[in-house]
Amino acid sequence: MICPGCSSNLLHNHMLIDDSVPPMKNRSEIIYPQCSVCGHAIQVPDIEENISVFRKVLLISGTAGAGKSALGQLIASQSDYIFVDGDAISKRVNYYARLDPGASVPDYQRETIRTMLVLLGLGYDVVVGYVINREVWLWYREELAKYHLSPVFRVLVPDRSVCLQRDLNRECWTAGAEYVDRWYDEQREYLLTDPEICIDSSRETLADTFARHFMDLL
Ligand SMILES: [Zn+2]
Repeated sequence: MICPGCSSNLLHNHMLIDDSVPPMKNRSEIIYPQCSVCGHAIQVPDIEENISVFRKVLLISGTAGAGKSALGQLIASQSDYIFVDGDAISKRVNYYARLDPGASVPDYQRETIRTMLVLLGLGYDVVVGYVINREVWLWYREELAKYHLSPVFRVLVPDRSVCLQRDLNRECWTAGAEYVDRWYDEQREYLLTDPEICIDSSRETLADTFARHFMDLL
């Protein structure tokens, strides 16, 4: 777990948050693990030897407005899990793409998976919140299986009208009705194939959803 940039021990010398990027309006932190001595952006090969089979991973999917970020933030505040908000990852990617239009732009989902693996290697349990479709769910499973880890996967599927209202009413980034619908249809497929992982949070508060469906998983 030696930093390739400065040879310091990354387990003891790292920062998780990139505060050079403007903060998210939804207050999610922009997680981007770096060496705290030289600033090297920590990569999976730097720390993968330290990914333990005892680490825990919770993946929360759901359409825009389903409550992924609010729930992820709540889980992180009530536990030692680090919350990786996929929207914050994509914001960081876009921010640097604008500064350097010639550079290649990483895939948001792959970048989120990479960040998750780096955190696991640094010794943290991780909760990820993002729109995870079937194809991407396989990517997560494949990557984690390399380290004999299997994530807990849950999908928030409140009523469409609840998602739409929450998405369009919020002050920060909104996906818009078109994307709420597209993602909603995608996420509802899980109701048909994997109903046991789906949570309808339409008629409960965030605290209730946490207490009823997530507290026991932590
Ligand atoms: Zn370093």
